[in-house]
Amino acid sequence: MLSRLPGRPAREWNPLTLAVLTALWIAAVANWPLWRALFALPESANTRGVLFALGFAGLIAALTLLPLALAAWRHAIKPAAALLLVPAAAGAHFMGTYGVVIDSTMMTNVLQTNPTETRDLLSLRLILSLLLIAALPIAWMWRLPLQQRRLGTQLGRNLIGMLGALAIGGVLLFAIFADLSATMRNHKSLRYLINPHNSFYALGVLAHQANAKPAGPPLPIGQDAALAARPATAKPPLFLLVIGETARADHFSLNGYTRPTNAKLATLDVVSFRDVTSCGTNTAASLPCMLSHLGREAYGARERDQENLLDLAWRAGLAVLWIDNQAGCKGTCERVPHAQASQGAPSELCSEGDCLDDALLHGLDERIAALPAERRARGLLLVMHQMGSHGPAYWRRSPADGKPFLPECETNVLQQCDRQALVNAYDNSIVHTDRVLARSIAWLERQRAAFEPLMLYVSDHGESLGENGLYLHGLPYAVAPREQKHVPMLVWTPSADQRHCLAAQRDAPLSHDHLFHSVAGALGIQASEYRAAFDLFAACRAP
Ligand SMILES: [Zn+2]
Repeated sequence: MLSRLPGRPAREWNPLTLAVLTALWIAAVANWPLWRALFALPESANTRGVLFALGFAGLIAALTLLPLALAAWRHAIKPAAALLLVPAAAGAHFMGTYGVVIDSTMMTNVLQTNPTETRDLLSLRLILSLLLIAALPIAWMWRLPLQQRRLGTQLGRNLIGMLGALAIGGVLLFAIFADLSATMRNHKSLRYLINPHNSFYALGVLAHQANAKPAGPPLPIGQDAALAARPATAKPPLFLLVIGETARADHFSLNGYTRPTNAKLATLDVVSFRDVTSCGTNTAASLPCMLSHLGREAYGARERDQENLLDLAWRAGLAVLWIDNQAGCKGTCERVPHAQASQGAPSELCSEGDCLDDALLHGLDERIAALPAERRARGLLLVMHQMGSHGPAYWRRSPADGKPFLPECETNVLQQCDRQALVNAYDNSIVHTDRVLARSIAWLERQRAAFEPLMLYVSDHGESLGENGLYLHGLPYAVAPREQKHVPMLVWTPSADQRHCLAAQRDAPLSHDHLFHSVAGALGIQASEYRAAFDLFAACRAP
């Protein structure tokens, strides 16, 4: 007769068994965004596709088992499993919810994100994902008693586990190689969905880059910088550069969007350039690149960081001021005067750490008056870094009295929203940018007594709003859809002649590569880095 004797110890588990179970759980469950993406492909809709997915899952499990088997010791296996399960659960949530993938630029963005941006991304769904994918198996595992084996015995087992993982992984790779290489070639972004290896790989790439990059300040540029001579009667230039956030060119009515998102700018003297491409698909990549003289390709291939447009203007003797209404300037403004728009902003403009972009204009005259007078007399480069249309909380980017499009999506779980409500919230953020730019132009008009003003607005990158199941931005540049790279750019100038001249380039293919040279040229900066071919204003100087 079989009966459990009282006091008989519960079954003891070998650490390697837990390692195997964790690897299987991560491959099967934590990779659900990968399996969803894979089964959405037409080539997966047959038996061969199912077999391929099974082989792929086995390969991921084998890959995950390798480090876990190394850690399959009595006191190490549970923390080691948790160390993989928690990032896997978080990664699954962000990939599954927003259609993003995790690569090194996305990881840079995550690491540079400020607390209020993080709060925007926190949601019930994230907690649910952490509970189901990580907390559930961890809690189950934590209660289990583990076998105490002799060192040599456990080492032998773990080695067998690792060799087994290698052997099974090798056989599976061989079996599915043709399908795997074809799928990865045709759908490059899938590789960034392999969870949590994508996160650790991205961290590794970043660590390698940080080590590979020589320490010390960026290489100086503009060491020969000088200012073009100005007629005695001419006023110093005031260049207002507004760096937008997450704005899409095709949601600007100035560019043909059917909803009136640019009602105010449409009545002002602006020239909108309709075919402008961003340098990156996220802020951390785009911001330093667009301010660099190198252009996108050379910037990506650079061996050392170099100074940027702000350093050049400062070295040329101009006054420079960066005002930030976002997570900061990603290191670009450290060597010139800079301020946070939230400092001293009225409380009605700010809530929970975020301010509306109107805060950029608040107290502006006082901020400028505090810059060195001799520099101001030569000219001023003023940069405003907007909060713009920063997602996923689009509805927080416009004030209550500035929401012409209702109802709005008011959750961070964008794909749960009605698509029209999502677009409404996003379009309201564009309407607010329209209002802030119009107010900026009104402010510039008032500076005409002392300055020759000019304004250029350009967004840092675009945004996906549910097209093909994608949300937010930050896909690797090579695979990112047009929505994430096609950005609005416009110029305001009080000179009608200059406007007419600029209008000739309205439909020309332009990019962030033009920014450095256009701003430098307009400010009369002469330096060896300047290239007239990338200067929008080269043929269109104000009289
Ligand atoms: Zn951005």
